[in-house]
Amino acid sequence: MSKTIPVRNPRTGQYDFELRTTDPAELPAISAELRRNQQRWQALGLEGRLEALNAWRREVERQREVLLAALVADTGRLVESEREMLRLPTSIDKLAIMAREVFAERSQRLRSLGHVEVHGGLSPFPLVGVISPWNFPLSSSLLDTIPALVAGCAAIVKPSEVTPRFVAPLVETIKRVPEIAAVLRYVTGGKDIGEALIGHVDAVCFTGSVPTGQKVAEVAARAFIPAFLELGGKDPAVVTGTADLDRAAASVVQGAVANAGQVCVSIERVYVAEPVAEAFVGKLVDKAREFRLAYPTLQDGTLGPIILERQAHTINRHLQDAVDKGAVIRCGGPVAQRGGGWWAEPTVVTGVDHTMELMTEETFGPVIPVMTYRDTDEAVRLANDSIYGLSGAVFAGSAGEALAIARRIDVGAVSINGTGLGTAAIGEGDTHEKNAFKRSGLSGSRLGYDSITRFMRKKAYLVAD
Ligand code: NAD
Repeated sequence: MSKTIPVRNPRTGQYDFELRTTDPAELPAISAELRRNQQRWQALGLEGRLEALNAWRREVERQREVLLAALVADTGRLVESEREMLRLPTSIDKLAIMAREVFAERSQRLRSLGHVEVHGGLSPFPLVGVISPWNFPLSSSLLDTIPALVAGCAAIVKPSEVTPRFVAPLVETIKRVPEIAAVLRYVTGGKDIGEALIGHVDAVCFTGSVPTGQKVAEVAARAFIPAFLELGGKDPAVVTGTADLDRAAASVVQGAVANAGQVCVSIERVYVAEPVAEAFVGKLVDKAREFRLAYPTLQDGTLGPIILERQAHTINRHLQDAVDKGAVIRCGGPVAQRGGGWWAEPTVVTGVDHTMELMTEETFGPVIPVMTYRDTDEAVRLANDSIYGLSGAVFAGSAGEALAIARRIDVGAVSINGTGLGTAAIGEGDTHEKNAFKRSGLSGSRLGYDSITRFMRKKAYLVAD
């Protein structure tokens, strides 16, 4: 049965929006229709699909102001919402280049083996399910969806119930492009519809927390479909004694406090060589203090509120646990309530160790705990002492020195003398692939060529002479 969920406004704390949820009983009809339409979508060919996706992109651009206003209401922040709006065109352009290569290469005759000619083919999963989180509501709902559509799949998307205001204006844009409307459906609600969805699709892409990811994987296993999981992280940064400390401090702060730390690839722990530690922490504190909260107005600063109220309590619990065990807060402090919302100042903490949740659990706030190390082996051991393996960063005097450390860190992507380099718009030619290691995820890369090919089953045609 369809019901409504009250939705909290992260700036005011008021429940000022009602989300009407999709009745799970509608899923069989929705999936049957999408599966029928997918055949036509696949038959359109890559260029036809790209044309439709570009028509949709123009509709999204036309709807920009309404969509942006909804995203701002969902998240309470402006700058990151504007960035989210830019990711759709960038991703279509990037994917178009890679998809043309993938399709050209795979459709070629591979080889003739005596009496048999071998041709390669790609067969898209007819229907892909996408379940996404609240920290980047629009872009995380599209990150796997667009490559799936490019590959020739249809998709059902279930975005987070925490930030659902953007869905209605986005659906308006979808309706205006019939080819897209035929193969892309947004459904709304929480856990129930998310779990039910898995039983109606041929592959599921899940972005969210580790505990939910594990549940999704179990349901997917019972449904006997692949689950592509992109989960939480606790990204380390290693700063060696030879690093440019100004650069490292500026970059670590940026990588830790962007979107108020509500980023899966946030820097959440820093290991710095003992001799330079105090100088580095001083610079870190100076840089952290430059960031301003977007409070009381959106334009006052770049850092929005903590979107999910429960997360504010998690951040404070981690800080309290650290302080109770001897840590020292060097700037910032606990998340505080202002005007009904929860706001977190960039917070630098020293005197930390791995007995503290702040160093082992995902905090998801703008908190930068800094621990010292004596030698490279210890830095590597500490960086790897985590259940997570999403990404990380190394700062050193030369790229060679940093790479030698990066190769020993057990994560899917390491930025050298920078942070979050893999998620930045590197440009159209970027084809890098990466996996999420350990508990941070499972399955193929959501970036690069694999972001498309993982939605296509490999098929062989074996032709006798
Ligand atoms: P969450 O796991 O609570 O929820 C994610 C989505 O799953 C939501 O849409 C939710 O409604 C749905 N869901 C909840 N229970 C479900 C169930 N049993 N079956 C199916 N669906 C269910 O995560 P969140 O709090 O929305 O997001 C924050 C988390 O997401 C953080 O851990 C963050 O690191 C992670 N994240 C990871 C990436 C990445 O690329 N690795 C990107 C963004 C966020």
